[in-house]
Amino acid sequence: AIADKKIEKWTYATCGYCSTGCAIEVGTDKDGVPVGSRGVADADVNRGKLCVKGLFEHELFESAGRGDVPLMRSNIHDEYQEASWDESFEKMASEIKRIQDTYGPDSFAIVSTGQILTEGFYTLGKLARGVIGTNNYDGNTTLCMASAVSGYKRSFGSDGPPGCYEDFEHTDCLIAWGSNLPEQHPIIYWRFKEAQEKRKFPLIVIDPRVTMLAQNADMHLAITPGTDVVLMNSLMHVILAEGLEDQDYIKANTTGFDELAAEVKNYDPITASKICGIDEDTIRNVARLYAKAGAAMNIWTMGINQSTHGSDGVVGLNNLSLLTGNIGKKGGTSLSITGQCNAMGTREWSSCSGLPGYRLLENEQDRIDIGKYWGVDPEFFPKKRGLAQTDIFPAIETGAIKGLWLVGTNPMTSMPNTARIRKTLEKLECCVVQDSYLDVETTQYAHIFLPAAIWAEKEGVFTNTERRVNIIRKVKEPYGQSKTDLHIFNGLAKQFEQGRKMNFPDNFHEVFDEMRELSKGRLVDISGMTHDLIEQNKGIQWPYTQEQVDKGEKPLKGGKRLYTEPATFRHPGGRAKLIPLPFIDNNEKPDEQYPFWLNSGRLVEHFHSRTRTGKVGNNNKYSPTPFMEMNPDTAAEQGIEHQSYVRVISRRGDAVVMVMLTQRVPRTMVFIPFHFFDCVNRLTLGLLDPHSRQPAFKQCAVRIEHVNQE
Ligand code: SF4
Repeated sequence: AIADKKIEKWTYATCGYCSTGCAIEVGTDKDGVPVGSRGVADADVNRGKLCVKGLFEHELFESAGRGDVPLMRSNIHDEYQEASWDESFEKMASEIKRIQDTYGPDSFAIVSTGQILTEGFYTLGKLARGVIGTNNYDGNTTLCMASAVSGYKRSFGSDGPPGCYEDFEHTDCLIAWGSNLPEQHPIIYWRFKEAQEKRKFPLIVIDPRVTMLAQNADMHLAITPGTDVVLMNSLMHVILAEGLEDQDYIKANTTGFDELAAEVKNYDPITASKICGIDEDTIRNVARLYAKAGAAMNIWTMGINQSTHGSDGVVGLNNLSLLTGNIGKKGGTSLSITGQCNAMGTREWSSCSGLPGYRLLENEQDRIDIGKYWGVDPEFFPKKRGLAQTDIFPAIETGAIKGLWLVGTNPMTSMPNTARIRKTLEKLECCVVQDSYLDVETTQYAHIFLPAAIWAEKEGVFTNTERRVNIIRKVKEPYGQSKTDLHIFNGLAKQFEQGRKMNFPDNFHEVFDEMRELSKGRLVDISGMTHDLIEQNKGIQWPYTQEQVDKGEKPLKGGKRLYTEPATFRHPGGRAKLIPLPFIDNNEKPDEQYPFWLNSGRLVEHFHSRTRTGKVGNNNKYSPTPFMEMNPDTAAEQGIEHQSYVRVISRRGDAVVMVMLTQRVPRTMVFIPFHFFDCVNRLTLGLLDPHSRQPAFKQCAVRIEHVNQE
């Protein structure tokens, strides 16, 4: 079909949906109209493949609901009025100054995204930390990856996934925890499947639901929701009891072994099975299979991260990997599969949780170095991280925060307990929404709307799940009067005296050069990369240093790992920490009043709140409406029929959905996809992980009522 469309030019980009990071080319016709998308054949990541989302990505540019002009209004109940960019920047800056002068610098908060280009993230960090001076700046990545970040930092001393996709081609055993690759990351699934067919290693899936990945597993462990840490501790109990640990690796690379061993003694398989619902023989078998494999991998996604024990779950998987010497070796890793296309970019460069290049606000030298480089008094920086996104909304409720700038995020659909979010947003004195789409639900609450260029209407880089930096070239000019994020941040910076004193380059190469310079000697060293080199290599994994370039070393094909040498972890002394994880059960569990577990997750056709996939290709045709998976036996007991409508009720709210009967969920559980407005997140629990502040989206209690359908 693409061949019929008379494509005159193909432009290189990186897919703008999930974190797999597929290299894509967008074809334009003689008038420059995007008419086709195809995978890049010799790209390491996807080897010419794209999933159902990437295949229709060229339709994004002219999709319905795009914002084409800045808009303003004094009251959220008034109609929007069109404004010029200058008027919008002036108004926004004057509101920020008014709010900060009246209520203090942290009373204006910023919540960004995992979707924009890394050069944009870096510039927003410079603006937020160096000019506006609020400490309440975070990304919506708190909703998906904060637990992975926190867990990596606790175990290894720094964020940064240690493994790569090539590990599938070397592993002897793969355990997937709360990860449904075929729907969430289809091309990573294809990479895994191709490797497994060649080498026949076992796949063990830990998930309360029979996901598509579980259907393809050698063993599926349908765990009781929220009890992963118990299962991890019990696996370690068996490994230590049977002497299957790698003592040489432990002695050379870790601290904390004795404390961990003392804790996991409490989790013998008989005791653990009563909590996590997996029988004792299965626990023993999985422990042996994993520990005896020459190289073994743990991968995970939101099933681990989106929990009140998310950070502990990540540490638990790191503990398992370290105990068995499965870090830094081919096929042996602990790999978080990230959510958004550039969640990694924001973790590395945006300054949401610190300063660029994985620097910390808590570290004096880091503050001095960045202050000197940017031309900012280091005393201007806060000395510890401010509120996470999930704490910013409660702070709006209490009145501590009065102004909010939302960049490429839609909390009205994506946050838990959205009825509460609605009331919270109404309290703001100034709400700014910067988005490519005017019809995202959160714009209802905006005083200022800034139309942003979408995906390949701009140029810059993303980092994918395996630390691969890849480039997006501009396919066409921004829609209407919309501007690139970089230009929006720079336009606002110039409204402030401090911003005029600092360097805010409009050219994305110059921004990247600043990042390269600041990366030198850091774990995330990208100093050897240039935009052109990245495109020539179809993506380069970090670290790739100037030193390597000087020595004539080319970027590595295939896969690159962290922590391959002894004692190279980022904790003082270079050792990783083995951390004991006592389990305290604080989940909301089913009871007489709310007898079902509610689980939520993603569908292959859609991405996040459907702002894009609700409008392009066939994605919406296949999944146009919310539904609830229910076990047929439970439905029969309750007199509920396939495709009837029911009301699902939790302690937070209710939602009406169509029933889909399926054995994918056990009798005690229902499942609702999270993409739809006013649906599952009216029900979900706002409880947070204490380390990462990530919410528990994956487990809460609900009851179900019939809806009168006459
Ligand atoms: Fe895009 Fe992810 Fe699909 Fe690849 S797997 S085409 S990155 S959505």
